[in-house]
Amino acid sequence: MPIYEYQCPECGEEFEKLVRSMSAADEVSCPACKSNKVKRKMSLVASKGGDCSTCSTSCSPGSI
Ligand SMILES: [Zn+2]
Repeated sequence: MPIYEYQCPECGEEFEKLVRSMSAADEVSCPACKSNKVKRKMSLVASKGGDCSTCSTSCSPGSI
């Protein structure tokens, strides 16, 4: 599941949200001020630590 980064234009809060679907991604609200005008940033951090092609020891595929 992807984790999206959001920024709230109302208070400047930045946060990450794990979303299960595109509709859920559009229903995110700011955890600080509850604004629903948050903007989803383009960066996707779901792949962090998930590339096991370069890791031969500690991480196991499928653990994410
Ligand atoms: Zn906010």
